[in-house]
Amino acid sequence: MPNRLRFAPSPTGDLHVGNARTAVFNWLFVKKYGGSLLIRIEDTDRVRSESRFEDLICRDLKWLGLDWHEGPDRGGPFGPYRQSSRTAIYARRAESLLETGSAYRCFCSEEELGRQALETRRSGVARECPRSCRKFSAREVAQRLKDSHPAVIRLRVRSGKVVFQDLVHGEMTFDSAVVGDPILVRSNGIPTYNYAAVVDDGLMKISHVLRGDDHLSNTPRQVLIYEALGWPLPVFAHLSTILGPDRTRLSKRHGATSLQHFRDQGVLPEALLNYLTLLGWAPGEDQSEILSPEELVASFDIERVSKSSAVFDSQKLYFFNRHYLKECDPSRAVDWASAYLRREGLLDKVDSGVRQWVGLVVEAFLPGMDHLSQISQKAHQLWSFEAEKAVQDEGVRRVLSLPGAARVVDELRNQLSHEERDVVREWSSIVQSVKSASGQKGRRLFHPIRVALTGKDSGPELDKLVSIFEGGSQLELPHRIKDCRARLNEFHGAMLSRGLIPSCSR
Ligand code: GLU
Repeated sequence: MPNRLRFAPSPTGDLHVGNARTAVFNWLFVKKYGGSLLIRIEDTDRVRSESRFEDLICRDLKWLGLDWHEGPDRGGPFGPYRQSSRTAIYARRAESLLETGSAYRCFCSEEELGRQALETRRSGVARECPRSCRKFSAREVAQRLKDSHPAVIRLRVRSGKVVFQDLVHGEMTFDSAVVGDPILVRSNGIPTYNYAAVVDDGLMKISHVLRGDDHLSNTPRQVLIYEALGWPLPVFAHLSTILGPDRTRLSKRHGATSLQHFRDQGVLPEALLNYLTLLGWAPGEDQSEILSPEELVASFDIERVSKSSAVFDSQKLYFFNRHYLKECDPSRAVDWASAYLRREGLLDKVDSGVRQWVGLVVEAFLPGMDHLSQISQKAHQLWSFEAEKAVQDEGVRRVLSLPGAARVVDELRNQLSHEERDVVREWSSIVQSVKSASGQKGRRLFHPIRVALTGKDSGPELDKLVSIFEGGSQLELPHRIKDCRARLNEFHGAMLSRGLIPSCSR
């Protein structure tokens, strides 16, 4: 039997990391072992399901780099792939279950069930349904239906053990008494999740069900439904729960967990794919955790999926992202960075000159970034040079109190006062001249230069910044960027006015 897997999201919200991890494992399985993957939209919850979420989920899966063979967007031989379009299929199967006696109509009202549930809790005997409607004869059922009594369809659960194989948890055994007689179809004709999922998995010839272990307790019910339909069981694999850093189930309380959030932040899809795969799976001992999509497929092994819970750690995700950002094609990073800078109003038109310049900005600031959206905050300093403020900064004051610092600033100003000098091209010889004239080297040379040009005591490499200041000052940007000379003159002036440079020093 060919491998056929499915990812079956409920379109009730954005795709979050837990569901995305399930999709990734299904995808990896098919890529590794062969077969086909389908997407099925489980929209039986008519109140909470929205088609825009279906679109967002499919968009995010594609962004992550996943693909599939069948689904609502692609069609396929086992469609329709949206449960809301399959109501007649569920009804037909339910009729046949009623005919064979595997299911029965239950007329208990909500109030009645509520009262009995309370009774159950008091008596401590777990049972979802009192099963009192099992005993109605066909005539009694027909009469009640004729009298318009609302009825649900329930599975007539047999007694005894329910056993199934799980690739992660091994053989699982439950007593059928714990599951009651589950509802298959509600009185409004809408199927329940357990029933619809089994009918679909059966008719869509699903061979392996890989899903979150929050569904483990549903599986005995589903196994009993398979039995009633006379269908073989698929192989199950229930993936461990994803926890937050405090080891409680990952939820919104832990901060944003949707894929969209990470995408908006500028996390690369390959970083997220790599990280999600490590939630519940680990490569072999001597293998690196940094794995490209192709390497992930090659090393994936369903036997090594762990049943212990995985902790989602955004810092580790950013560690992967930093790696992939360094590796990625620079033009891709420039596209993203330009979009962030535009959003902040720091850029407007992005022509080839601006792109080239953004490339320099990305290259300079990338080493300190977890994700690309930080570019706006980092690059802000290019525009926000204020010498008066800078000379009051504690870190800057510390640098200026280094022996010879004032001399370095003074000499740099002297070097740049030759208007004909090309600051970018001649930067190293300018620094050399400052060095020999001031007699300072190393930290005592470079730190005063840095504070004078940037107003900060740390940051990207100086020569990169110099190219950025000079290049930026030539561009038509919504806010002007000061070139090195302007910066230095301002800074020198601020030092003078605060008595940080003796006015007679030159
Ligand atoms: N629609 C279910 C969910 O989103 C999927 C359950 C399953 O895979 O069987 O949790």
